[in-house]
Parts: sequence; structure tokens; C-alpha cells
Amino acid sequence: MTAVQTLRGPIADPGATLMHEHVFGLSPEILWNWPDIPEGWDLEERAREAAGKLNELKAAGIDTIVDLTVIGLGRYVPAVQRVAEQTGINIVAATGLYTYDALPAYFGNRGPGSLFGGPDRLAEFFVRDITEGIGRTGVKAGMLKCATGRQGITPGVERVIRAVARAHRETGVPITTHSESATRNGLDQQELLAEEGVDLSRVVIGHAGDSTDLDYLEELIAGGSYLGMDRFGIEFCSFEDRVATVVALCERGYADRMVLSHDSYCFNDRFDPAVVKRRHPNYHLLHISRDVLPALRAAGVTEAQIERMLVGNPRRILTGGRP
Ligand SMILES: [Zn+2]
Repeated sequence: MTAVQTLRGPIADPGATLMHEHVFGLSPEILWNWPDIPEGWDLEERAREAAGKLNELKAAGIDTIVDLTVIGLGRYVPAVQRVAEQTGINIVAATGLYTYDALPAYFGNRGPGSLFGGPDRLAEFFVRDITEGIGRTGVKAGMLKCATGRQGITPGVERVIRAVARAHRETGVPITTHSESATRNGLDQQELLAEEGVDLSRVVIGHAGDSTDLDYLEELIAGGSYLGMDRFGIEFCSFEDRVATVVALCERGYADRMVLSHDSYCFNDRFDPAVVKRRHPNYHLLHISRDVLPALRAAGVTEAQIERMLVGNPRRILTGGRP
């Protein structure tokens, strides 16, 4: 069992954990050039606001969040450090790269098969984030992330997944994916990760909970991975469907293969907060505590099963235990 790296240093036991959240989603190039965006970014103000939200989450019984904001989503750890100083919640930082298609030019123009050639720096940078720390913050990443969208495994996405796999093999840090349930591409992610020698029991197939296709979900479990039931509150799959899927999988004995989360942001400049509030009224950090857990209990999910999804499974994933 290894310690879990957080923004405030290593901890032994993460406790009740939401495995896929975000503190800040930022667009640095927009902020450099249009600093007065109507969404309003002020580091100190937003850090205070985020800490307030996380303190409410702590009061609701959650001890740790995994912040899966990686390159491509505006990761800026110094801002998250300001939040961590003002909240009792543990925040686990992540490394990896979020793209559904091409790589950012820095990586896309380097590496094998690229226009200018040279070494592929992706895995090297991911490993540095895990072993030395992110930027100059000293904060070590505790989770790796890659993404596959509707386009499937494009050449850019393939390079990210292979680099994430290599960084995982070198460091033992677990992997979470962003998958597209509509195209069942969590299976393609598993295939490529396995080809790279990854033990799939160290992988969470993220956004699996967007699917109500139990055959697909059981196939992912049979491959060895955990399912991220991690977008509670995002309305393209209804509350009732998301809950019913977790209930059905618990009934089939898979509570030890699921983790729960919202994929929410304390602040994200890519959404219009007023529109989001109207369209996705439950898309916030307290939805699981307030609404989802009571609905699961009412449908017969036991306390022991909830404990597994919120505490036992995250602990096992983050500390390197086996299912
Ligand atoms: Zn996310």
C-alpha cells in the first residue's frame, strides 16, 4: 500500500472520496488576452469561493476529491494550492492530457512520426509530475488521465494513452479515463492499455455511468476495471437512469467495481454558470450526498455497498491495492 499524494502532501487513508471532480477549469490563452471575461477570474476570490464549496462537501461527509484537471483543461496547481490552504478536504492532483483528437502543438510537433521529430515528451512529463511534482509547486500527481471521445482512438489520443500507460508502469499511479459510453469505447481503451502491459484493475473507465447498457458495463468489469459512475447531475443521462444503473449493478454483485462522482467544477470558464444552473440544476458537488445516496438506499443498496463505492474502492485504487 502506498501513500496517497494530495495538495497538502501524502496521506495514508483518503476516506470517503469523489473520484472525478475538478476545482478549476481555465482557458489560459483566453485569460491572457481577454482578462475581463464576463465569467470573471480572480484567483483569490475564486479560491475562497471554491474552498467554501469544498468545506460544505466536507460537512456532508466527503474527505477527498480527485481533481482530474490535466493539460488541455487548464490545470494551474498554484491556484488549487490556495484552495487547499483554506479547506479541510484532501485534493488529489492528476497528470495526463485531455484531447479527443490532435495533440497540443508542443507535443504534436515532436515525437515519432511528427513533422519535426525528436523524443516524445508525454510520458517523461507525466512521470515528472508524479515523481518530482507539478511545475514548481512540489505537488505530486496521484492519478493519470487520458480521454477518448466520439472520434475514437485517433493518432493523438493513441499517443496519450500509450504515454499514460508507460507512466503508470513506471510509477504505479492509477489511471482514470474519459470514455464515450455511446460508442462503448471504454473497451478500446482497455484493449490499448492492456497491450501496453497495464493491469486493468488499476484503471477506472470514467463516464461509464453515462451508459445504461448493462452488457457493456459488465464487459468492462470482466476486463478488470472499475466503472466511473461519475457524472451525477449532468442531464444527458437522467438522474433516474443513473441511479437505476448503479442499483442494477449492485444487485449483480458489482458494488466493489464502481466509484461515484459528479465531474463538477468549483469554477469553469468554459460554461455559462446561469445556463448550466438552468439546464443541469443538480450539477454540483453536493448532489451525491443530498440526492443520490438517499435514492440508492431507497432502492435497496446497502450501507456496506455504499461504503465500498465511496470509501473502499477509492482507497484500493489510490493506494495500489488489488480488488
Ligand atoms: Zn472531468
